[in-house]
Amino acid sequence: MVEQKSKIDLVVTHPQLQSEALLFFTQGDLKNFDALVGEQACQIRATMITDLYDKYVDSIKNNTFGLEMLTGEEKTFLVLTYFLTKFKQQEHPLEQKELIMICRIDLQKIMDFFHMQKNSAVVTLHEVQVKVAELSVNYLNLLLNTKLSSHQELKPLLMQQHLSGGRVTVGCYISMMLMYYDAFKNNRPIVIKVERECKNQVKTINFIYTPNLGEKDCYIQQTAQSIKKTGNQPVLIIEGKSTCTDQACRGCFEHENFSHKLQQTIKAGPQGLLRVLCANAAQHAQFIGQDDLSYDFSQAPQLGQTYAKSKEIAEHEGYSLHNPSTFLVQHIYASTLAKEIYSFFPIPQ
Ligand SMILES: [Zn+2]
Repeated sequence: MVEQKSKIDLVVTHPQLQSEALLFFTQGDLKNFDALVGEQACQIRATMITDLYDKYVDSIKNNTFGLEMLTGEEKTFLVLTYFLTKFKQQEHPLEQKELIMICRIDLQKIMDFFHMQKNSAVVTLHEVQVKVAELSVNYLNLLLNTKLSSHQELKPLLMQQHLSGGRVTVGCYISMMLMYYDAFKNNRPIVIKVERECKNQVKTINFIYTPNLGEKDCYIQQTAQSIKKTGNQPVLIIEGKSTCTDQACRGCFEHENFSHKLQQTIKAGPQGLLRVLCANAAQHAQFIGQDDLSYDFSQAPQLGQTYAKSKEIAEHEGYSLHNPSTFLVQHIYASTLAKEIYSFFPIPQ
């Protein structure tokens, strides 16, 4: 009897997928592992892939890295997230995207690549997404039990998991906080890319932040020049939009006043960046397809208060779908400084 390979094995052991994943990973091209799983938790994959890159960065630099160095789960994660990125449909323009992103995968490409029927491609895609969702939630649990064990107050929220189309999901708020604390712990820069719209004009403005190690969980803004020497480092890219709602505005871009205003907003308070991210994460439904389901805060009353506060900040200060006047996060992905930074921070000679 011929043993049938599972769909997951079929993908993970595919020689072409393996070699492409290996190439992109060693090149620091981490955008290629930006998997859409259908549970709106791009921040978890961004966290996982940047952590994975950090873990192996020395052997990557020495040109000794190979897939055989990865644990079974790490290899599965790398190849499956690459698969989900490779077969994504062409990106839609940013203004059509929302943080709540539906899954856009090109089934025809999967059928052609594996020479399979549509039914088979649907099953393969589904199994891969279910697996990546499972690995994602497992990873957050691992983080909270190891590197982030000082954040046990978050446990009651992380324990609240729901199934969506067979995929296990945790709420957006909890994974956003874990992303932030993990990034801080790893001394990882965060880049904010804002697409500002004012009077039919659109301009992208970028800010870069690095952990201020002297102050707990605090990020501070940097200039491109100050981070020049750290090109190999993985970074988190947080992109989103900002819509000018000032009827009397004579153009946001003339005096750079918007850019100044946003800088001040993010600087406000010792945890300015965390405040902005939490507001964004609290302003929409926590569990996909279950709009009226939120967290049960009975085990974490204090978090319940900060969550309510975050929602309020989102509405009043412009971090929500209804009011994106300051910054509405649309997508989060991983990259490296070398791949990203110089393209939007021209460095003076
Ligand atoms: Zn304006």
